[in-house]
Amino acid sequence: MLIDVRPMLKGEVREIKLDYLTPPPEDFNDIHFTGDIRITGEIVNHAGYQTLDAVAEVPFDTHCSRCWKDISRSFTLNIHKVLATRQSLQNQTEDNDDYLLIEDQKIDLDSPLLEAMMLEFPYTFVCKEDCKGLCAKCGKDLNEGDCDCPKKEIDPRLAILQKLLYK
Ligand SMILES: [Zn+2]
Ligand SMILES: [Zn+2]
Repeated sequence: MLIDVRPMLKGEVREIKLDYLTPPPEDFNDIHFTGDIRITGEIVNHAGYQTLDAVAEVPFDTHCSRCWKDISRSFTLNIHKVLATRQSLQNQTEDNDDYLLIEDQKIDLDSPLLEAMMLEFPYTFVCKEDCKGLCAKCGKDLNEGDCDCPKKEIDPRLAILQKLLYK
């Protein structure tokens, strides 16, 4: 969504509250997004410059990377940006990632947000910190108790494969 910051640039308002939904990224790997991204926060006008502080939250389904159990989570990203015009950006040499461009008195938050979200999104999830995973030999879910196989470190992906093979 394009956010109109004209009233702020004209000095009519000091704050613009944000609370809107935007479509989630494409599903990737084993991540399936189950709802829109909700963005809440505010743009505040300080003396001569504007900042944006917001939180983006998106729900998704995935699997535990150890035991492959279904899990539903939500991912939260904090966003802090300084608003800038193209002119003011040309005059400084620092990393532009901290800036959000004002174009035609509007800002597009969604594109940089999706980009940041994809960068920050974790690769794997576990159903619980101490998930014991599956036995690589017999495929038993070790959260439900030990099996009789000899114990050694296993690759969870192999465990899943073996579970399928020996079902
Ligand atoms: Zn698990
Ligand atoms: Zn076993």
